[in-house]
Amino acid sequence: MSKVLIIGAGGVGRVVAQKCASVPEVFSEIMLASRTKSKCDVIAQEVGQGRIVTAEIDADNVPELVALIQQFKPEMVINVALPYQDLTIMDACLKTGIHYLDTANYEPKDEAKFEYSWQWAYQDKFKEKGLTAILGCGFDPGVTSVFTARAAKHFFDEIHELDIVDCNGGDHGKAFATNFNPEINIREITQKGKYWENGAWIETEPFEIKKELSYPNIGVRDSYLLYHEELESLVKNFPSIKRARFWMTFGQEYLTHLRVIENIGMSRIDPVMYKGIEIIPLEFLKEVLPNPGDLGENYVGETSIGCRIKGLKNGEAKSYYIWNNCSHKAAYDETGAQGVSYTTGVPAMIGAMMLLTGEWKKPGVFNVEEFNPDPFLEKLGEYGLPWSEKENSDLEL
Ligand code: NDP
Repeated sequence: MSKVLIIGAGGVGRVVAQKCASVPEVFSEIMLASRTKSKCDVIAQEVGQGRIVTAEIDADNVPELVALIQQFKPEMVINVALPYQDLTIMDACLKTGIHYLDTANYEPKDEAKFEYSWQWAYQDKFKEKGLTAILGCGFDPGVTSVFTARAAKHFFDEIHELDIVDCNGGDHGKAFATNFNPEINIREITQKGKYWENGAWIETEPFEIKKELSYPNIGVRDSYLLYHEELESLVKNFPSIKRARFWMTFGQEYLTHLRVIENIGMSRIDPVMYKGIEIIPLEFLKEVLPNPGDLGENYVGETSIGCRIKGLKNGEAKSYYIWNNCSHKAAYDETGAQGVSYTTGVPAMIGAMMLLTGEWKKPGVFNVEEFNPDPFLEKLGEYGLPWSEKENSDLEL
């Protein structure tokens, strides 16, 4: 029986709040706090089952966070605000002596740079206080990292090749929209690609490498090599990996919109003057694009995200594929949120459950693959994300 503070009332926050509210035996009291309290109130009213209290918080402000935590006295924070808030929330957890979990690594606002260094630097501080910080507990990073840990624990002596494959085979009917926060999403996918090979990072131009990959229940989709944050921790935690890559599907229509957005300067994150006020073009663009949290209503199709792995077991070469498919419509019918919010929110709730029940509790800062994957994966299907696996099939990679 534990109190939890959820920070962030977007699409992911909605799913986390609903899922926590549905497990009173673990999450005995729940507070949902965010920059705009009215959004928390709507979520609490629609999916909170009368179990969620709400508050306004500026999570960039450590003293404000400390005051809220001291008032509510939770055992942990589930941070599903934006990656910009990771460090201030970690600081507040340290000051108040509570545990921490997030779904995306810290990024400075003025530079689209994805690395764990800032958060890994908190290792000693969390350790000294006997507190746990769980990093990257959404789907990717998150479930993909736990899938890899399962492969390493039960199927391989050495993992040599890891390909994370992320397909959104859904259609929301809009000309262009992103599936989670547009600012964070566009920063991520317009970066150079990068993958790990033989002990070094190889950089590519954005969208330079493409393969046609087939996804269960969806079919063949153009899949592009991107850099994604979990690669950094996975190659560190599984040092036998010789090559690690991340693939994401994009349709031609999406890529055309993205190219135009970039060419006309709307993806810029440096300030420009407009009628005497400084604006950041990408922040402005976010305001005119569809809200990802509102895409669910007419969203059809499925996501399919998984890991395709090659390596050795008992000296023999083998392959392994583990994945989850999630229907946007089923996610919407259950939570009012589309599949990408759902596939992020469910693992965040389960990660928090792992921490609070002691399965994933140890002092320090950890990526999810550093914990026992078995109890997490037992719960994943039960709470809405069943997974499948097969051995020695053609991985296409
Ligand atoms: P949204 O933009 O929909 O929601 C973010 C929420 O955080 C909003 O309610 C926003 O408030 C709030 N917020 C922003 N800044 C502050 C602040 N300074 N103080 C308090 N609250 C703040 O994003 P999503 O729900 O789509 O995504 C949430 C997180 O999940 C992101 O970090 C994203 O990167 C991560 N994610 C992870 C994935 C994974 O698989 N690991 C996949 C998808 C997302 P307001 O409503 O006022 O704007």
